Amino acid sequence: MFLKECTSYLTISIIKLFMVKVVPLQEFYQNTFGGRPCQLDTSIYVGTEFNCGCGSSHRWDPYMMPVIRELPMLKLVIDNPSCGYVTFVKIKGFFKYRFESIVSCLNGIEKPQKKIKKNTITKKTKKTKKVLKKKKVK
Ligand SMILES: [Zn+2]
Repeated sequence: MFLKECTSYLTISIIKLFMVKVVPLQEFYQNTFGGRPCQLDTSIYVGTEFNCGCGSSHRWDPYMMPVIRELPMLKLVIDNPSCGYVTFVKIKGFFKYRFESIVSCLNGIEKPQKKIKKNTITKKTKKTKKVLKKKKVK
């Protein structure tokens, strides 16, 4: 019994270490409220790993993942367009830095759905044009 409790506690703590709390966009805005555009020298943090809302960890790259917001107490909002998640992190450490992820959120609406809708609309307009032409001929 004791062993079972121990292992379950360990798995929970491991999950907590590698997973970020993923929240709705509205809650994410509430968490990151009061920030300003980043004025911090972030060049020293290049290559620092952080846990992302997509489930994997990324090495931070200023060109691939721009910092969209800076908050007091060394907190940053990192945007990652390649996986679509924005992650709110706290900078920890003095000589070897690490990013402690606080919350993450899926940014924006999925693009493929929009494309499908556009296609159906263009097909419909083409059909109506053909009908109009026929009417004019008559
Ligand atoms: Zn990600």
